Amino acid sequence: MFDYIIIGAGFAGSVAAERLSTEANKKVLIIEKRNHIAGNCFDYKNENNILIHKYGPHLFHTSNQKVWDYLSNFTEWQIYHHKVLAFIDGQKVSVPFNINTLYKLFPTSIAKKLEEKLLENFPFNSKIPILELKQSNDADLSFLADFVYDKVFVNYTAKQWGMKPEDLDSAVTARVPLFIGKDDRYFNDTFQAVPKHGYTKLFENLLDNKNIKIMLNTDSKEVMNIKNEKFYLFGNEFNGKIIYTGQIDELFDYRFGELPYRSVEMKFETVEKDYFQEAATVNYPNDYTFTRITEFKHIHPVNSSKTTILKEYPQQHIQNKTTPYYPIFTEENQLKYQQYKEYSKQFTNLILLGRLAEYKYYDMDDIIERVLEVIGEIK
Ligand code: UDP
Repeated sequence: MFDYIIIGAGFAGSVAAERLSTEANKKVLIIEKRNHIAGNCFDYKNENNILIHKYGPHLFHTSNQKVWDYLSNFTEWQIYHHKVLAFIDGQKVSVPFNINTLYKLFPTSIAKKLEEKLLENFPFNSKIPILELKQSNDADLSFLADFVYDKVFVNYTAKQWGMKPEDLDSAVTARVPLFIGKDDRYFNDTFQAVPKHGYTKLFENLLDNKNIKIMLNTDSKEVMNIKNEKFYLFGNEFNGKIIYTGQIDELFDYRFGELPYRSVEMKFETVEKDYFQEAATVNYPNDYTFTRITEFKHIHPVNSSKTTILKEYPQQHIQNKTTPYYPIFTEENQLKYQQYKEYSKQFTNLILLGRLAEYKYYDMDDIIERVLEVIGEIK
């Protein structure tokens, strides 16, 4: 009946389903644990008409023309340039740390000296990861690196990951480098926008195909099982292909142990104010136990005398209790993942895609690019 079973209706699963059903006329069954599509991009309008990102802020940004063009088939866009402030020493300053931030936090003479030093050493508009700047032998740059490390990174990373920046893969903190320029935006990508009518609508459009059937509220283990390296759907051997986008350790019953993830508790509050804060997101590296507050009205402006904010409290992930948001990027965990990956190779009809199945910190555009590539090859 089905050519493909896809587990998970986030970007990985939904883009795969769209490509296979539209381009290759394949019949696809999507099995989704939650009671909704769109994975962690799921959004909805609350009672005040404010569009809420249920699983935390998702701001679309890419420099990949192909990905942008592809998604543009399924949504209109609302141009949106994300700005983040960080509450540091009693002030709210731009993050990524940039030349404007220097002038806000230091007396002009010191800021000027640091700016000159930065520009002597790095091209204007370049990006330097904090851990790289920390290697500098120059006394002024080393002072700056220690300052930014202490004020912006070390405590935020302790809250978010329960670790020091150095103990994580360097790519994690490199996502938010120092910016040797005066652009206050969080991202520098060519395309920056949010789906005009929300992500959920975009996903509805992706999945709107008679070749796609969706089972919500269904854990794949309820309807599928593995025996002798073969997959069974409702007790019958399934000879089509399986695209699995859930946790790889869960799929294989944790046979090599649990892969650790970081979770976040999302606490929403609605306040009787037009606006709560000056920017969409304010990070609190050093204060409180949440990492950041996001105010959704800044992302999708709406006429309401109330506003809804989200405080993110990072927490350890507990299997079947919390949502696994972030693979924890350490060498040890990568090795464990490799064991699962190796083991998965004996399942010749299994394709692993996405943050959880590939144990990889994909951004939205990266996973879409990957799915377009992988599906392009197997069709
Ligand atoms: N980070 C930090 N301070 C900040 C912002 C980011 O230390 O003010 C570090 C932290 O380790 C975080 C990583 O940079 O996990 C990546 O941040 P990003 O905003 O990209 O995280 P996401 O939006 O994916 O949650």
